[in-house]
Amino acid sequence: MSLNRIFSLAVTIFVATHLVAESLPQATLVKAGRLLDPRTGNVLSPAAVLIENGKIKEVGAPSKLQTPPGAKIIDLGNATLLPGLIDCHTHLFLDIIVPPELEQQRHYNGFFAPGMLLAIIESPSKRALVGAQSAREDLESGFTTIRNLGHSGIDGDTELRDGINRGNVPGPRLLACGRKLITRGSYVQNLNPALADAILQQEFLFIDGVDQAREAVRRNAFQGVDVIKVTADENLTVPELTSVVDEAHREHLKVAVHAAERVPIQTAIDSRADSIEHGNEVTDEQLKQARDKGIFIDLTPTFYDSFYLKIAQPSIVITPEPPAQAAQRKARGKKDYDQLVERVLKSGAKFAAGSDMCWHYPGKTRGEASINAVVKLRDAGMSSLDVIRSITSNAGEMLGWANRIGTIEPGKLADLVAVSGDPILDISELERVRFVMKDGRVIRNYLQDNQSR
Ligand SMILES: [Zn+2]
Repeated sequence: MSLNRIFSLAVTIFVATHLVAESLPQATLVKAGRLLDPRTGNVLSPAAVLIENGKIKEVGAPSKLQTPPGAKIIDLGNATLLPGLIDCHTHLFLDIIVPPELEQQRHYNGFFAPGMLLAIIESPSKRALVGAQSAREDLESGFTTIRNLGHSGIDGDTELRDGINRGNVPGPRLLACGRKLITRGSYVQNLNPALADAILQQEFLFIDGVDQAREAVRRNAFQGVDVIKVTADENLTVPELTSVVDEAHREHLKVAVHAAERVPIQTAIDSRADSIEHGNEVTDEQLKQARDKGIFIDLTPTFYDSFYLKIAQPSIVITPEPPAQAAQRKARGKKDYDQLVERVLKSGAKFAAGSDMCWHYPGKTRGEASINAVVKLRDAGMSSLDVIRSITSNAGEMLGWANRIGTIEPGKLADLVAVSGDPILDISELERVRFVMKDGRVIRNYLQDNQSR
């Protein structure tokens, strides 16, 4: 080896070790005007958080915290600190452009819209890059943890999770579900039977009977998933879903069940699933049962108000609806969802929230679109504090990670975000997250000029 080569190697090693030391100092003190505890609603003002080795060591008034010598100090001025945000329901590997109405009608295949089908048969490499971009954009908007609930190809989300953890690509802490479990039902209608299975196996594991249900969980567990996702329709039986839940719990995995209508919701409750995703048509009696069994309702207000239209309008020509009729339909949809939120809150059932984001939202990054969807819960009548709980402390509990994430407390992972104003007065502050820290590493800091990146 030439001297030159040795010298450049030495420089590389020096720079590398120096950079590592820079990105994660032994101790960091984050100071801010306010710190909100989502569980109690209490505000600590002024506040400081001491971080060591990627974890929260101490939280308190700045005057009471002992700063270790050599600690890096990040002063966020008057900003409000919150726990890192958690999107409990997302689809990083889908970036669907809603097809025009005529095309949708002609190619209708149940819930399995043409845009979704296209995503599956596209190049898996291209899809992986979409997933990586969505993950980075989610993190930049303040989502330090996300639960990806399906549509990632065979191993997209487990590989992305591992890649993020290795430092190959930036992204949130990711809970991956691998392939989604479905019945051979309305989800996948009208596909060519000679070709369908080869395509569908890229995305789903089928539940046809209790043995296959158990096998599907084992396949995903073998692949190292963090959670099991099931799409429940009227074909799914209680014994089949119970078999999924038993096997998943044996593997220490929680089961998230897509259930929007009354019958699948009852199947999920009777099978003791861990969370009901969407839950739009849940009855008061079912909410009572969910509360008694400790089952979470994971609200996804993605179709609330005109959110979906904003996504679809640029690409779709919608048959003009008479204005009075359109207004009526919109008002009915809003009223239904407002009532759902009110009934969930009144029932005492546990709740959390997710964006269910899977579309291309023109003009917004994935993170911006996702947080914009979730804060719609405020318009639907939820208090700002409950909206924040649903994507922090409640979310951490639903994911089974309450001891790691969801609040700013000693012993937890150092996942923090900060906004300039008061998110209780104006929930849209969450759409303008100015500071993001994950595992003690600064991802974004727009509050300190010299540190903005
Ligand atoms: Zn979904």
